[in-house]
Amino acid sequence: STNSPLIPFISEEEYKTVTKEMFRCADAVCFDVDSTVIREEGIDELAKFCGVGDAVTEMTRKAMGGSVTFKTALTERLSIIKCSREQVNKLITDHPPQLTPGIKELVERLHQCNVKVFLISGGFRCIVEHVATQLGIPLDHVYANRLKFYFNGEYAGFDDTQPTAESGGKGKVISLLKEKYGFEKVVMIGDGATDLEACPPASAFIGFGGNVVRQQVKEKSSWYVTSFGELLKELEKI
Ligand SMILES: [Mg+2]
Repeated sequence: STNSPLIPFISEEEYKTVTKEMFRCADAVCFDVDSTVIREEGIDELAKFCGVGDAVTEMTRKAMGGSVTFKTALTERLSIIKCSREQVNKLITDHPPQLTPGIKELVERLHQCNVKVFLISGGFRCIVEHVATQLGIPLDHVYANRLKFYFNGEYAGFDDTQPTAESGGKGKVISLLKEKYGFEKVVMIGDGATDLEACPPASAFIGFGGNVVRQQVKEKSSWYVTSFGELLKELEKI
């Protein structure tokens, strides 16, 4: 169609150039968090911390090969972890999420260029907020799942009304951002299939393989990078 920025028959090299251009003139850049902005998978770290790492890893492996919905997979893993509020707080204090090298500089540069930065995560808000604070990202720019606790601090489930609790949730958040802020050019950056699937509605997708390389994502990305330095370098061209 004529209003699409990507013509279906352009070469891979041209597609990459278009993606780079889109990144340089984006209104907003949205980052996945687990294995993108931070080095690890938040839910795996939480499971390990609660002593059920192996059981959850096994379940994640099963879920990735099957047709389980995101919400079901999350429900099942959390029903094994059953973390208390205290355990989550202790995880953040004792094992704070490790920022991927270069992310702080990249977010700073984007902010200097007046680009809005968002974190969109299938992980947990309490952990992602901690990451946002370190990066100077406002907390209302964080979209993630909310754990629920009883008054005594025991695990009580998660808020399943959040868009990030659904399959295709990241795309829903991007549509919502375009509507709320009037963004036209939104770039999604992430390591996983759910990040790739958010484009469209995202205008462009950049695959990130700095922590883990997912072959399918790598193959389908018009621009695939393994360090945030590559993105920072692209911004120097503005
Ligand atoms: Mg990820």
